[in-house]
Amino acid sequence: MENVTITINGRSVSAPAGSTILEAARLANITIPTLCYMKEINEIGACRICVVEVKGAKTLVTACVYPISEGMEVWTNTPRVLAARRTTLELMLSNHNRSCLSCVRSGSCELQALCKQYGVENEAKYDGAKTLSEIDDSAAHMIRDNSKCILCRRCVAVCKETQGIGVIGASNRGFKTAITSAFEMGLGDTSCVSCGQCIAVCPTGALQEKDNTQQVFDALADPDKVVLVQTAPAVRAGLGEAFGYPIGTDVQGKMAAALRALGFDKVFDTNFGADLTIMEEANEFVQRVKNGGMLPMITSCSPGWVKYCEHYFPEMTENLSSCKSPQQMFGAVAKSYWAEKMGIDPKKIVMVSVMPCTAKKFEIHRADEDANGVPDVDIALTTRELARMIDRAGIDFRALADENFDQPLGSGTGAAVIFGATGGVMEAALRTAVYMITGEDAPSVDFTEVRGVEGIKEATYEIDGVGPVKVAVASGLANARDLLKKVRSGEADYQFIEIMGCPGGCVNGGGQPQVPYGIRNFVDIRAERAKVLYNLDAKNLLRKSYENPDIQELYKNYLGEPGSEKAHHLLHTTYVKRTVNRVYGK
Ligand code: SF4
Ligand code: SF4
Ligand code: SF4
Repeated sequence: MENVTITINGRSVSAPAGSTILEAARLANITIPTLCYMKEINEIGACRICVVEVKGAKTLVTACVYPISEGMEVWTNTPRVLAARRTTLELMLSNHNRSCLSCVRSGSCELQALCKQYGVENEAKYDGAKTLSEIDDSAAHMIRDNSKCILCRRCVAVCKETQGIGVIGASNRGFKTAITSAFEMGLGDTSCVSCGQCIAVCPTGALQEKDNTQQVFDALADPDKVVLVQTAPAVRAGLGEAFGYPIGTDVQGKMAAALRALGFDKVFDTNFGADLTIMEEANEFVQRVKNGGMLPMITSCSPGWVKYCEHYFPEMTENLSSCKSPQQMFGAVAKSYWAEKMGIDPKKIVMVSVMPCTAKKFEIHRADEDANGVPDVDIALTTRELARMIDRAGIDFRALADENFDQPLGSGTGAAVIFGATGGVMEAALRTAVYMITGEDAPSVDFTEVRGVEGIKEATYEIDGVGPVKVAVASGLANARDLLKKVRSGEADYQFIEIMGCPGGCVNGGGQPQVPYGIRNFVDIRAERAKVLYNLDAKNLLRKSYENPDIQELYKNYLGEPGSEKAHHLLHTTYVKRTVNRVYGK
């Protein structure tokens, strides 16, 4: 592409034609602050934090949307620019509740960081009336507090564009503008799927998960309870960021040590549940192929995706695998097999999960997720909540020595750990499905065609005895929608589909530590975190779920075969057909 040369702060900068001032500045390592801007998702130039001076322009221009032209002269930090940014921040604060002392985002809030950078005092310069707002806590997974909202519309864009849902949008005009659900319904009454992507992109404390940390502290302090914890694969790839580690740092060992220091009776790994899911799901797929069952079979381990399917493609719920998610399978087995082995009443067990996902908070309350007459999982925390607990308990995370998970429910293969990245469940299932069909190991464990962060991936694999098996992988629900429309119209004829609700899979889940968009716009956090999981897979001596000796033992001594009656009772579930409640969006 042709390049254009401009000057920024007196320096000559060359950038591809069509670039914005922000992109050109980035190429020259010149930082221009942003707030509302999300590359390719929310390019609306609304917040005006990125204003700069351009020679000849009458007013300051917004760098995130203003295209460069040959010979343009730009200044990013003149007194006029700095004053304008400061005034913008002061106006934002004038309609903000400014409870930084106790705000969940204090320390990671992008608004707070900008106020500090530009010397804006907490005492508002422009004080006056405030837009009236109420806290919406109607959803199972999150709380919306518009008194901290700065109307950047990042949440609206991610919900509508990335997730294809659109249950939130700007209502009213001028001073009364607010981000709400249609007809000001509570979010819990809409067809929100609980993905939490809006929380992940919100720069302030206006959106947050429902905090269950005190419930866990209370359980840990109760001598009559046996408190178990399981941690999802993606948590080990994200938790370190909350303690200052670079994006893409593996903190599995420190995480296990921190959980033990918090006082959990057993520190287990959801990877065990993931291996179990693969045994059941691969078996279900093989049975559907051999017996003419409903195809394509679609994975069911992402509760955001499952809820989306129930609302938006209810006619396809029969395509969903009946397998519970790894989180739920783990809880069901912990409260039956493990409890019996240990002689513990399942009613005494408090099963806590740590997940990269807010939809898990919804999932634990679903019907048919209580195989032992008690909930499979009692409390689902996000990665962020675990970080908060570690911090509150005064544990010096960075100083912890690595520790291992407890056994036997702490074992997992390489196939299990890649569940956290888009394509990982498909790859793990194929490794085992090939074995179940042919009785032999797959020629290679690396199904690289389904790896990577692209929103939709396709591949065809030749399996002896079955012939070509066409598979597809989608992550992010707008991509899932596009893929399923093709399946519904007959344009695509896959046998097996993996869908993850969050773009890039669980590594980019709505419960992971928030990364400021000043970084996210230029670093692909999905790819960086996924590398952690693929490295753990490559390092593991066991890379196929059927090789996990503790899973073999579980089937031999307790469940019988994959798909057995007992396995069905404990490990499989049912779905409902829901309706759509929305006005915003398409
Ligand atoms: S959202 Fe940010 S600025 Fe507002 S109260 Fe919370 S930390 Fe303070
Ligand atoms: S949780 Fe997901 S579906 Fe619900 S409002 Fe947020 S982005 Fe939209
Ligand atoms: S809720 Fe958060 S992301 Fe949404 S508009 Fe308000 S500040 Fe922006």
